[in-house]
Amino acid sequence: MEQGNEVESYARNLFLGGIEVSTTGKHAVEDTVRLMAEHIPVIFQATFIVDGFIVRNDALKWNPETNLWDLYEVKGTNSMRLDQKERDHVTDIAFQASVMRHARVPLGHCYLVHLNKEYVRAGDLDIESLFSIDDVTDAVNVRIPEIEPKMEAAKEYLNRVTEPPGGCECVYSTRRNHCTTFQYSNGHVPEYSVHDISRIHKTKLANLIEQNIFALDGVDPELHQLSEKQGNQVRAHQTQKPVIDADEISQFLESLQFPLYFFDYEAYAPAIPAFNGYSPYKFIPFQFSLHILREPGGELEHVEFLHEEFSDPSEAVALKLREIYSEGSVIVWHETFEKTFINANIAQRLPHHAEFFEKFNGAMADLEKLFVAQHYIHHGFRGRTSIKNVLPVLAPGFSYAELEIHEGGQASNEWWRMIAPITSLEEKKEIAKNLKEYCGLDTKAMYAIWKHLFALVNQIVEMPSGASTELSKSSKV
Ligand code: SF4
Repeated sequence: MEQGNEVESYARNLFLGGIEVSTTGKHAVEDTVRLMAEHIPVIFQATFIVDGFIVRNDALKWNPETNLWDLYEVKGTNSMRLDQKERDHVTDIAFQASVMRHARVPLGHCYLVHLNKEYVRAGDLDIESLFSIDDVTDAVNVRIPEIEPKMEAAKEYLNRVTEPPGGCECVYSTRRNHCTTFQYSNGHVPEYSVHDISRIHKTKLANLIEQNIFALDGVDPELHQLSEKQGNQVRAHQTQKPVIDADEISQFLESLQFPLYFFDYEAYAPAIPAFNGYSPYKFIPFQFSLHILREPGGELEHVEFLHEEFSDPSEAVALKLREIYSEGSVIVWHETFEKTFINANIAQRLPHHAEFFEKFNGAMADLEKLFVAQHYIHHGFRGRTSIKNVLPVLAPGFSYAELEIHEGGQASNEWWRMIAPITSLEEKKEIAKNLKEYCGLDTKAMYAIWKHLFALVNQIVEMPSGASTELSKSSKV
């Protein structure tokens, strides 16, 4: 939301002479009517209320050639692909246009103002190049008759005195599509349910829901035609027994070369490019953590880097990494993201370090792959492979719960807050401490998972009780 507000405030520079309606409710409508009567060239937050609907425009611009008002909607998106986002944006404008037509506003063209992903900052921001403006009038005209019945239905729904029974529509959607009120609206659905079956297709999910099957206990993987991996997830829950392929895990561990570098980084992607060489939403790498194990049974070393000033950290990140790493396996969680990130966000911008990053990327080994390939299945993972789901099961002593920062998005927002000139020195110190704790835990968690697997395949620890695969081989790592 903050980024959206920031984008809007920059976009206002495209409209010289604009006046903002700063009042609310019916006073805002009165002010809008007055400014329109005065033919103010641009009105920000022009407000209309008709028949229970209220809209506030980002910018309404008087066109003296057509004697009509053109509507501009500013979005923080940087692409205009024909995807759901674009559909949502056009729908948003169609809603505004519908209400304004009912308010008898002489409406001209409708425009979507969005960030230009081709823009690369070089010196001061070039506002004209930073934004693209697309005429979406035709698409809006097509959408209006589609959405007007939905507007009426939404109004009727929201005005009901009692809440309609029967849950909400997301009962047919997978877990990642649910909002935080899902449990409230669908109290009959268990916390871990058919919605959590990994990559379940919506028709299979709908089939289960239609049969009133919500709990995994009621699922028959064969009868309900689940994929092999989905079936494994369901069976792991039903039997509450892990399934471990020690051969595959052992092979993976043998392929690693010491020293082992457990690596993770944090990055921030501002909508408005903050430094030269950056485009909208290009990631700024600002922190990394490395836990290093030079030999089996050796002492774990920790090296970290955090950029604490308001400047581009890329060069400092690259230099520090080069200082530490020369050879050995770089162990990450979700290598596709890490590699793409490094290629697209550091190596491309710093070609003089490209050779080093090619080597660094080439040494990467993805610990998550073992879990994606289901060489280790545990009901406690709940069908997920994120480190935050795997860690508490395999290394229960580690937890993110007590940290001030719990996930990557929060970390990047905190970094941006930390380097802001207005943040006090004391606050900066506190944020730096929290960021280091968070990033450090990510790599220590990877080490803990590796250590658990290493001990397991070397028969240093016992297989979990009831595990369905016998250990067949010892690791030679
Ligand atoms: S889960 Fe949330 S987003 Fe989904 S239908 Fe229910 S209320 Fe709407």
